[in-house]
Amino acid sequence: MKNQNLLDRSLQAVWHPCTQMKQHEQLPLIPMSRGDGVWLIDHTGKRYLDAVSSWWVNLFGHNNPRIKDAIKQQLDTLEHVMLAGFTHEPVVKLSEKLSQLTGLGHAFYASDGASATEIALKMSFHYWRNVGQTEKTQFISLQNSYHGETLGALGVTDVAIFKDTYASLLTQSAQMPSPDFRLAEAGERAEAYALRCAESLEAYVAEHHETLAAFIIEPLVQCAAGMGMYHHSYLKRAREICTQHNVHLIADEIAVGFGRTGTMFACEQANIKPDFICLSKGITGGYLPLSAVLTTDAVYAAFYDDSTARGFLHSHSYTGNPLACSAALATLEIFETDDVHHKNKQTAAYAKDKMQALTNLPIEHMRQQGMIWAVDIKTNNPSFAKDCYAQALTQGLLLRPIDNTVYLMPPYVVNEADIDFMIEATQYAIQHAL
Ligand SMILES: *Cc1c(COP(=O)(O)O)cnc(C)c1O
Repeated sequence: MKNQNLLDRSLQAVWHPCTQMKQHEQLPLIPMSRGDGVWLIDHTGKRYLDAVSSWWVNLFGHNNPRIKDAIKQQLDTLEHVMLAGFTHEPVVKLSEKLSQLTGLGHAFYASDGASATEIALKMSFHYWRNVGQTEKTQFISLQNSYHGETLGALGVTDVAIFKDTYASLLTQSAQMPSPDFRLAEAGERAEAYALRCAESLEAYVAEHHETLAAFIIEPLVQCAAGMGMYHHSYLKRAREICTQHNVHLIADEIAVGFGRTGTMFACEQANIKPDFICLSKGITGGYLPLSAVLTTDAVYAAFYDDSTARGFLHSHSYTGNPLACSAALATLEIFETDDVHHKNKQTAAYAKDKMQALTNLPIEHMRQQGMIWAVDIKTNNPSFAKDCYAQALTQGLLLRPIDNTVYLMPPYVVNEADIDFMIEATQYAIQHAL
């Protein structure tokens, strides 16, 4: 009864994200009441394994005692203070730690990933203006890229379903061929294909560099494109090309940062340093909204001046919120004490092996990068994604396919029994959604 009531009230009062609300006439919302490790528990007590880490934000499980305690402690001292004119220990500590980890600095905070994208784009544009290169106003991104859905971020995003409706509102940007190796020619190796895409990038940048401010890229995995993975040599070439032609490289590590691809940051696998790094999602372990952009001393120096207008005057009300920073510090501390990357390697290998169970289904492009596994399903069912999602729910699995891509991206605390369950339920869901 209570369950039904909450569901109806939600449909009346809440406009749910990324949702055609009318579809809830068929597929009911699920009122969740608790979280516990990799599990979510609904109002009837039914358990769901959170195989998408609640939209890629959760790293160390729901109801994590260490992150929870850090927030509680902070709550007893200072819940929030504006960051213009004031500072506090959590934001200073977090900025120092992020700087150590990324090799960049001057952390600028916001609350969502899309805001981090906006900040990086504005900073890059403003940098070129401050150094007198006012013609450098254009941005480029990859085909099928996703950088968030506010207008500026959507301008460099290339996912039709999110972008096309708003096209006339958006700043134009050019898209470079994606190194996603699903797009390679038959028989072409991932690295050869990545390098071929880098040649196109080079040709474009060589021709347009005088008007280009920055190239924004999702390192190693284009998650929203359906877990499009690519060879790290593309990143290495992108860095060289941007450096050679005086164009900023913005690494959007909002989804892939904090260990998801097997290293703390995906850029490490190409041994490159971007000019800007955008962070969010996993930064607080999935507890509170927080995002950050870090950049180079050179960029920072171009804003440091007697003139107010040469400063970066961007702000959000909750910039550097102490509770969110405390959650982030607790999350980073888990990385420091728990040998997370090593453990993830073992988990990843175990799951990769178990994924073989899916090979008797009509699949292609089985792939894995760190703690992300994906396959594309060959089916003529136009509502495969929705049906697969619904079928998985019946099994107690939260799976959210992107078009025909089924992916698993669970919290890092997933154990072998969880993986067995997750893959068995995935197999069932695919089979019943074909
Ligand atoms: C999710 C995501 C964003 C946007 O973050 P929000 O917090 O949803 O605004 C930007 N870039 C990438 C790569 C993402 O995956």
